[in-house]
Parts: sequence; structure tokens; C-alpha cells
Amino acid sequence: MDIVCVGFGPAMGGFLTTLSRNLLNEDGTPRVQSRAMPGMPLQVVCYERADAVSFGVSGVVTRARGIRATFPDLDPGQIPLASPVSHEILLYLLDPGGASQRSATLRLADNIIRAFRRVLPYEAEALSLPYIPPFLRKEGGLLLSIGQFMQWVGSQVTGSATVQVWPGTPAATALFEDGRVAGVRLIDQGTDRQGNPETGFLPGMDIRADLTVVGDGPVGPIGRQIDQRVGLPEGHHRRDWAVGTKVVIDLPEACDLTAGTVMHTFGYPEPEIFGFLYVYPDRVASAGIFVPSWFDSPIRTSYRYLQHWMLHPFLWRYLQGGRLRSWGAKTLQESGRRGEPHLVGDGYARIGEGSGSTNILTGSGVDEAWTTGISLAEGVIGLLNEGKPFTRENLEQAYVRRRRESWVEAEARVAERARDGFHRGVVTGLLGMALAGLTGGRLAVPGTSGGSRAGVPTAEEYYRGRIPAEELARLRKECMARGTALHDALMQRCGWPAIPYDGKLLVSHQDALLLGGKVQAPPGYADHVVFLYPHLCETCGTRICVEVCSGQAITSGEQGMPVFDREKCVHCGACVWSCGQPHPEDPARSNIEFRAGTGGLHSAEN
Ligand SMILES: Cc1cc2nc3c(=O)[nH]c(=O)nc-3n(C[C@H](O)[C@H](O)[C@H](O)COP(=O)(O)OP(=O)(O)OC[C@H]3O[C@@H](n4cnc5c(N)ncnc54)[C@H](O)[C@@H]3O)c2cc1C
Ligand code: SF4
Ligand code: SF4
Repeated sequence: MDIVCVGFGPAMGGFLTTLSRNLLNEDGTPRVQSRAMPGMPLQVVCYERADAVSFGVSGVVTRARGIRATFPDLDPGQIPLASPVSHEILLYLLDPGGASQRSATLRLADNIIRAFRRVLPYEAEALSLPYIPPFLRKEGGLLLSIGQFMQWVGSQVTGSATVQVWPGTPAATALFEDGRVAGVRLIDQGTDRQGNPETGFLPGMDIRADLTVVGDGPVGPIGRQIDQRVGLPEGHHRRDWAVGTKVVIDLPEACDLTAGTVMHTFGYPEPEIFGFLYVYPDRVASAGIFVPSWFDSPIRTSYRYLQHWMLHPFLWRYLQGGRLRSWGAKTLQESGRRGEPHLVGDGYARIGEGSGSTNILTGSGVDEAWTTGISLAEGVIGLLNEGKPFTRENLEQAYVRRRRESWVEAEARVAERARDGFHRGVVTGLLGMALAGLTGGRLAVPGTSGGSRAGVPTAEEYYRGRIPAEELARLRKECMARGTALHDALMQRCGWPAIPYDGKLLVSHQDALLLGGKVQAPPGYADHVVFLYPHLCETCGTRICVEVCSGQAITSGEQGMPVFDREKCVHCGACVWSCGQPHPEDPARSNIEFRAGTGGLHSAEN
């Protein structure tokens, strides 16, 4: 091929849409000849891991500046579940039940708000903030389902007949040759779970190309391999991340929320957890939470917290009686510009969230990813027209220079230190965000990100003074014997009520896998989640991989050792970020390796 692309997310959508419009002359003849297949048009292929191009996970409210630059006449009515933003609310959620781990300051704040509720914009244990800072506002923007949007983009890209997009085809490794990336190797088929050949073995094909475009998202294996090979730029790190969990809901008939409504929440179920609710047309909503890496809890269970968040009295008024349509989870790389890798090298370029484009101040990543794709495509078209090779120097000039001049870069600089304050507490963090946002990034509250490996206490440390050590040891033993995570037992013990399952919206974690996302994992492939050094698991104090797993795919096996079940994995990546044990040879990595894998969630609505 001439160009091989990895991952079909918004970043690649921006790249391939822009590229495909520039490959043909008006009379349909190729504008650029292939070097790989002389006499043919440029040969471009994109490999997507998921079984369809639309199986992504993201709530999407976006200002859509880059997307609208690509589609100036975009009519949201053409895309299922899309709507213009009509109304935004920023809510502080009080703790209605007393189980949330609040500081004394926040408890006092809750009581003061309740005491003055008659004169405050207070309703159902929530305070509606009268002012939404400009950096958070999405006025004039769009609400989208990432699945429906990418399906729409995919049909246009493939309809141009200038590029191929292959879903269900994970790229396993980058091909490094003579100091350059020379393409990718696809995943082996017909193997056992350890990767050993079985009947029908088909080794992964090598796809060689002049340019490899890496847009494989926050935990993509190709991007990670390049990082391991060339390192990150001086002073950059990837310690900040979050796991986002969401549901798509049929709202009950009585619900009077109108399409285009956007709610941002903070304060509950734990002060560190942010939430969102976006209302699509036809009484459908996308709702979810983000559990960030600086939430220093050893029981970061996003699914259970999502249910408590939905049950908050303010939200439950709208959601009660609703029906779960789909469900999903995925991590976000939240180091932003400080997580930026080397954007280009000989033969490759990085775009999208894996290239550090997600903006942690404005809480947006889709349009940023899309716009990095446009910048690369414009640069590549220039190089193709000039007949220049895809060397590091040429890509620096053609792509990185464009990216540095774009709004994505300008806003990333404002956001760079915006969340540092959260490493010193939630209130300090919120102040730091406001300070950075309102001063254009000139001022910020300092704080150092330790990341999971430095920060997370053991359950014994975290619950000291609240749960006696003997009781905790007993609960741990009981959960281990059942092979379950500890979080349900500990949350129950700390006063969180049991979830009142209704079989429609509030369903068990296992039912969510079946009903809401339909996880599928075809046989014949190696496991993609691998515990590299079992002896590190033996001495691990948190076993946080079991607690955090979004699909209950990692459970406690013999002696509490983690066991992976591919059938339940939703490919969120939370385990690889969370694992508390540094890799013995590279402390930036953990004891879990997240490799290329098939299957995952099957829902085009997330
Ligand atoms: C719950 C949630 C809510 C969010 N809400 C918002 C929001 O409201 N607004 C907003 O702007 N952003 C939001 N985001 C962030 C946004 O989704 C991301 O920033 C954006 O999707 C990044 O786009 P990308 O193309 O860089 O990567 P991704 O969307 O991650 O796409 C990468 C693609 O690469 C594929 N891939 C990975 N590995 C391989 C491989 N080995 N071979 C082939 N393919 C591979 C993946 O399957 C995926 O399709 C949210 C995210 C989550 C999880
Ligand atoms: S994989 Fe990591 S978090 Fe899980 S048990 Fe092993 S060392 Fe601990
Ligand atoms: S095992 Fe799969 S579902 Fe569980 S945390 Fe890891 S990637 Fe997510």
C-alpha cells in the first residue's frame, strides 16, 4: 500500500475524509499515482479493530469546529441521534444519602446549600450554577452518537471508492525497519489463547506502506509500541487518564427534557466523579460518568458508580422508567499536550487522542482528534503533490507545523496545567481549572501527577478508621472465594444502598454486557490482556485490575491471582492504566500489556 492507517475513530475520519476528496481529478482520473502499484491510483487502507466501523464509545457534545469545516453544510438531521445543542446546565450534585466520601468542607457546603435552598437555584439535591465558564460551553455545537456519526463518515469515505476501510482487522505490531516504520503486521488468526498456532492458523499479514498513520486511540498497541521504541519527548508523561462509562437510554414518556439539552455534573457519587447527560431527538439520552486517575480510591468501579449517579434524585426524576438501549466504557488519555508523543518519524505520523489531542479543560476530544486528522491530510496531500517522501523532516514541515498553528494547539496550551490542582484535592482542582480557563492558561494551581502507580492506597489504608482491619480481611477472603471484586462489599459496608434492579435501566453488570453492548469475542485469537509478571500480582496490594474492570472480565482466581476472560472484555483499557505495579524494565508501563484483540462491544449507538 502507499498509506496504511490504524484505527477508524474521529481522528481517522478527519484524515480520510480530507484525503479522499483530493485523490481524484474532476474527470475521475487519479490525481496521484501509486508508488506501491505503479499505474494505479494511490493505495490507501485503514484497519479498524472493532467488528464494525461504528462500534466506538463516547458521549459527544462538541463545538464541531473542525467537523463543520469539513462539512460546511452539515445538517444534523442526516445523522441519526444528532442534534444541535440548545440548552446547557452545570450542576453541583449534593450527597443525598451520606455515603459519598466527602471532605468536611464539602459536607459543610452541602448543608449550607440546603439551608439556603429557598433563595438558591436548588432542586432535588442539586444546585444549578448560574454561570457556565466560556471554556466549558458548547453553544452552537452538536450532540452526536459516536457510533452513528462514524457510520455516517465511514459510508462517505468508502463511498468515494478511493480508500478501503476494513473493520474486524486489528493491527498487531508496527514494522520497524532501518530506523523507520515500514507498515504494520495484522493479528494472527487460528491460535489458542496464548497465541500458539492451531488448526486453521493464518499468520498476520505484513502490510508495507510508505506512510503509516496511527490513530488507534488512548490505548492502541501500535502507538504504544512506537512510544516504547522512541520514548516520549523530554518532560512528557501519560499518567493522567480517566475511565468513561455511559448508557444510552430510552427516556420515559413523561420525561420533558428536550433534544439538545446538555447537563454537566460534579460532586456525586464521589466528588472526584464528573457526569454528563445529553438529550438526543426522539426522547433518547446519552448519560455517563468519568472516574479520573486522581481519584485515589482502590475501588474505582465505574459501573456501580454510574448506577448511583443515575439514582441521584435530580437525575432519577428524568430517568426513572427509562430503558437501557446500550452501554459502554472506554478510557481517555487525559495528559493532553503533556502526553503528546513524537508526532512524526520516518514513515509514520500520529493523530487523535493517542497523539495527545484531547483537551482536559474543555472536556472535549472528538473535534480535536478530527482536526489533527485534517492537518495531517492537508500535509500529506502537499507532500504527494510535490513528490516528496514521508521522512520525519518532511512530515514535521507538512503536518506538525500545521498542527502547531491550529486552534487545537492554541487551546491545548491553555489547558496544559489546568487540572494539576486536582492532585491536591477536588476543590483546589476546580479552582485551578477556573483559574487556567479564565486567564488563558497563564495561571494555574500547581500539583504533581503521581499516576496510579504512585498514588493508589490499598483498601486497608483507604478504609482505615471506617472498616476494622479484621472485618476487611474477612470481606476480602469471602470475595476472593467467590472470585468477585471487593467494591460491592466495601461500598455496602460504607452505607451505599443496594441498587434496586428494575430489569430495564438498572441491571446487573453481567446483564449490561448482554443487553447493553452485546460483547462478542470470536475464537481463534490470542488473549489481548496479558499479566506480564505473575510474581508481581502475587504481592500486589490493591488487585485494582479486578476492581476497575469495566466488564467484569478480570476476576480473582486462585490465591486472588487475576484471571482474564476475553468473552467479557469491552476493550476499555482501564486495567492497563490502573495496574499499580510498574514494569520492571520500564516504569512508565504497568504489569498489564494491552495487545491488539478482536471483539468487544457490539453497539452502534454508543
Ligand atoms: C464515555 C466518554 C464520553 C466522552 N464524551 C466526549 C464528549 O462529550 N465530547 C468530546 O469531544 N469527546 C468526548 N469523549 C472523548 C472522545 O471520545 C475521544 O477523545 C475521541 O473519540 C478520540 O478520537 P480518536 O479517533 O483519537 O480515538 P478513538 O475514538 O479511540 O478511536 C481509535 C480507534 O482505533 C481503533 N483501534 C485501536 N487499536 C487498534 C488496532 N490495534 N488496530 C486497528 N484499530 C485499532 C479503536 O477500535 C478505535 O475505533 C468521551 C469519551 C468517553 C469514553
Ligand atoms: S495485574 Fe497489576 S493490579 Fe492486577 S494483580 Fe497484577 S500487579 Fe496487581
Ligand atoms: S479486561 Fe477489558 S473490560 Fe476489563 S478493564 Fe481491561 S480492557 Fe477493560
